[in-house]
Amino acid sequence: MSIAEKFIKNNNLTKEEFIELIRFAEQDDAIRQMLADEAVRLRKEHYGLDVYTRGLIEFTNYCKNDCYYCGIRRGNRNAERYRLTKEEILSCCEEGHKLGFRTFVLQGGEDPYFTDERMADIVRAIRAGYPDCAITLSVGEHSYESYKLWKEAGADRYLLRHETASEELYSTLHPKEMSLAERKQCLYNLRELGYQVGAGFMVGSPGQRLEDIAEDLVFLKELNPHMVGIGPFIPHHETRYAGEPAGSVKQTILLLSMIRILLPKVLLPATTALGTMDPLGREKGLAAGANVVMPNLSPVKNRKQYELYDNKICTGEEAAECRGCLARRVASVGYRLVSARGDSMVQQ
Ligand code: SAM
Repeated sequence: MSIAEKFIKNNNLTKEEFIELIRFAEQDDAIRQMLADEAVRLRKEHYGLDVYTRGLIEFTNYCKNDCYYCGIRRGNRNAERYRLTKEEILSCCEEGHKLGFRTFVLQGGEDPYFTDERMADIVRAIRAGYPDCAITLSVGEHSYESYKLWKEAGADRYLLRHETASEELYSTLHPKEMSLAERKQCLYNLRELGYQVGAGFMVGSPGQRLEDIAEDLVFLKELNPHMVGIGPFIPHHETRYAGEPAGSVKQTILLLSMIRILLPKVLLPATTALGTMDPLGREKGLAAGANVVMPNLSPVKNRKQYELYDNKICTGEEAAECRGCLARRVASVGYRLVSARGDSMVQQ
């Protein structure tokens, strides 16, 4: 049995085997196609032809962290900072709801202005106004108590990419006050509190080796999250990695298929970063096992300011245009964009 067949049969491999499979698959179109076919079979078995959509509200680009790869890190003095008011956030939800969104993702830098109580107040207001919607938070590392408060206020889900499961790589990409152990602990705390949890990593981050990616896959299998967000690393001109190459689309697509096979019921977005690196990146992601898209609901006036990396797409269109464009893109590869909340099938 080949390593690809073994993976398809067991939905798992050892770290060494993952390295071997990625190495083979990168050289061989037939292996990649075999993995994509199995990934598509699994996504159809669990989610049919539906593609879920999340309305992304990027509500602040202030951040107290200094992740070396990120365009909105504290150390970027040239970033033009903004934060939305509660009213602006609610009006994004209002518009999104009219357009058929049933999940709102509040994402931002780690902005101390949004205290635990301010966040809880916003979550309560969205929960009261949109009882039929899921509320997802993506605001970084916080205490167990903060996560608990927001869960009780009505949040359902939390996205916190682990970024890389390799201790060594994590410590080169982040300043010393940040640690992988802390990041992982946050993910376990979120899960214990009953959130649907999303982990994930950047593909092709500076210094990343196949061993590191294999480590990510081993960690994902162990964590068994409800969602996994992966996208290519893309350099930002105001970071130390400005001159580094971006992550590869081909490798990202391969990993989407592998993650679908590893965690068959997971929610797997075809990310904006993938669409930034390739005009058809999101379509390719859907055709390789992804089943979620996350169009932008942030006010157009602020879109360019949430610049995590250079040349980010979809910064100029109104939300309605973005949704229409994505519905067409999804249909072009044989799926349908739906309005459902799109909860994960992963049980925990
Ligand atoms: N502060 C929250 C956190 O840390 O989870 C959410 C916002 S953070 C900017 C969202 C994600 O952007 C990160 O998890 C990271 O993977 C991604 N990101 C940041 N810089 C990037 C880059 N240069 N290329 C690709 N993705 C990037």
